[in-house]
Amino acid sequence: MNFELEKLVRPNIWALEPYSCARDEFKGMDAHVFLDANESPYNDPLNRYPDPLQERVKAALAPLKGVSPEKMFLGNGSDEAIDLVYRVFCEPKCDNVVAIAPTYGMYKVCADINEVEYRPVPLDEHFQLNADHLLAKTDEHTKVIWLCSPNNPSGNCLQPDEITKVLRGFNGVVVVDEAYSDFSDLMPFRLRLDEFPNIIVLNTFSKAWASASIRLGIAFTSPEIIALFNKVKYPYNINKLTQDKALEMLGEVFKVERWCTQIRMEREHMLPALQELPIVKQVYPTDANFVLVRVTDANAIYHYLIQRGVVVRNRNRVQLCQNCLRITIGTQPENNELLAALRQYR
Ligand SMILES: *Cc1c(COP(=O)(O)O)cnc(C)c1O
Repeated sequence: MNFELEKLVRPNIWALEPYSCARDEFKGMDAHVFLDANESPYNDPLNRYPDPLQERVKAALAPLKGVSPEKMFLGNGSDEAIDLVYRVFCEPKCDNVVAIAPTYGMYKVCADINEVEYRPVPLDEHFQLNADHLLAKTDEHTKVIWLCSPNNPSGNCLQPDEITKVLRGFNGVVVVDEAYSDFSDLMPFRLRLDEFPNIIVLNTFSKAWASASIRLGIAFTSPEIIALFNKVKYPYNINKLTQDKALEMLGEVFKVERWCTQIRMEREHMLPALQELPIVKQVYPTDANFVLVRVTDANAIYHYLIQRGVVVRNRNRVQLCQNCLRITIGTQPENNELLAALRQYR
């Protein structure tokens, strides 16, 4: 592999002189009169601009995630990092990206917004990745490969050996979205950053951390790529309320671990219970907090469940997911209500 960052980055981004905000210029702790940012002196503490690089949050994340702060980027959800990957690396109407299919929808939406060609490569019937098939779809204009493990909507982890083969066999950037890795026993690629100069791993507060509302996503990658993200992002992309709440959550890790254990236990209970239902054709293996289920008639069952006040995700129209519903693991009473409704379906 021959990874040259400068050749991958859009020339205008490589040359970009970023906006320098007041909080970048002065970082000392000693001052007590702040007249540099045209802030109001009233309404403390909401009057002050937040830390543009979220240093306290990153410091608290570092021991938990096993990654040092200079290899972290925090975004307004993972979605911000996904969009930044396009804006940093992909020249509109010229470059392309390759992605597994089916997978998370935002990779394609952001490609379309940025006018970047999106090349989906179907997984096999077990939703597994063939690295050679994926690499065969790349050409000299392919800047990024999108992988997601555990994958959404299939729920399974991609085989680590195949992911490694993609990372080693591609000269561009490989994103491994590990939004659901807290629900899996496999070693996350987040802990293997140093093996691959071209990897970007995504995590989020929206799933295991039970904080989708605060909009906080994490990208783990080399300090060089982090510097590019920091140059292009909005100066104050993570507001103070979100940073404060994240710090509070990070002080209660035991709670998050308890929730994860609970969800895994419920998952073990739900898989055989779903399998027993006559309307269920196949329950796909899952390493996430949801399960993909092939049923007799996904559209009819989806609408029936809505009438009963239970909402699941209808994936019937997604590639390889004909007649499939994606069902999130909820609390035990919620899961039981779903099972009871499905048992009564005629
Ligand atoms: C839910 C999900 C995310 C989370 O996105 P946020 O913007 O952080 O809420 C990211 N990737 C995948 C694959 C997901 O399913």
